[in-house]
Amino acid sequence: MKVLVIAETKQGKVKKATLELLGAASAFGAEAHVLLAGAGVAGEVETLARHGATKVYLADDDALAMYVTSPFAALAAEAFQKSGAELVLFADSEVGKDLAPRVAAKLNLPFVPGATEIRPEAGKVLAKRTSIAGKIMETIDAPLPAILSVKAGAFEVKETGGAAETETLAVPTADLRAIIREVLKETSERVDLGDARIVVAGGRSVRGPEGAKLIEDFADVLGAAVGASRAACDSGYFPHACQVGQTGRTVAPDVYIAVGISGAIQHTAGMTGSKIIVAINTDPDAPIFSIADFGIVADLFTVLPLLTEEFKRLKAGNTVAV
Ligand SMILES: Cc1cc2nc3c(=O)[nH]c(=O)nc-3n(C[C@H](O)[C@H](O)[C@H](O)COP(=O)(O)OP(=O)(O)OC[C@H]3O[C@@H](n4cnc5c(N)ncnc54)[C@H](O)[C@@H]3O)c2cc1C
Repeated sequence: MKVLVIAETKQGKVKKATLELLGAASAFGAEAHVLLAGAGVAGEVETLARHGATKVYLADDDALAMYVTSPFAALAAEAFQKSGAELVLFADSEVGKDLAPRVAAKLNLPFVPGATEIRPEAGKVLAKRTSIAGKIMETIDAPLPAILSVKAGAFEVKETGGAAETETLAVPTADLRAIIREVLKETSERVDLGDARIVVAGGRSVRGPEGAKLIEDFADVLGAAVGASRAACDSGYFPHACQVGQTGRTVAPDVYIAVGISGAIQHTAGMTGSKIIVAINTDPDAPIFSIADFGIVADLFTVLPLLTEEFKRLKAGNTVAV
């Protein structure tokens, strides 16, 4: 079977989510082709090859420096036609959520969003996904060729080695109808939520900028990304780009530290794929503890400064103070 992976990049580097899609292709023994579009991204062909890509359709041009739907959709459609792939995989990210349905409509193919398990069979693919904010699991049976978007953390990143052939695609100038001239403000200079190995997330209980700063300081000492509950974002304590959950980002880091977050199903829908979940909450009966691997029943205003100091000490090579 042949799979086409639609790559995403940030600052010229392929995102972890794309490498997970290559991990998916290798998990079901498929030949992986990749569309790599952006500006200054050609150097990433080698990274893709190392993770199993055998062919890369490359569109490297300044006009593609920022994601805009039409040219990327045209390139994805062209790469699909050229590759002869039976399955097209997108990350279930902001870009994937925008692009995958557009490409599906363009190619008149079935589309299954947010797959967590994929099983290709003769002439069809079975895709498992959650529905109703994680309350039910459903398996969608889609005829091939099909388009799937895949949740973060559903597949492991695997280095398989190897080389990839490159085919250059021309920039679809007719589709460059909208051009982003300037991004006034990056949402964060920290590691991207989707790529982070550790996420420290704050809830409504941070109560204001001082509490939010405790979360940020702890995240910085760990080299972590900052996440938040919707209640915390709606209260203005964190930017909306930090929101994790059903109507926010889906993350699957190695460690997710939920601080003062109750564990509502709409929040946990976005982070249950995390390998280790740590919860800090004053209420020992908070639902978050039922999915946590480690729990600290404590006031965040007391425990976070202590943890931040201890990790600073550890990083400086000193032993933990007792
Ligand atoms: C359609 C829909 C979509 C939604 N989408 C999302 C989504 O994507 N993401 C999301 O997060 N939510 C979402 N929600 C909201 C969700 O239902 C919850 O309301 C929200 O997650 C609660 O946020 P919270 O845990 O920060 O706040 P709360 O529920 O108020 O919980 C605060 C927690 O902090 C603890 N606490 C209080 N003080 C301290 C302290 N000093 N130290 C430590 N712990 C303390 C409390 O014991 C409590 O457990 C959605 C809701 C709807 C209806």
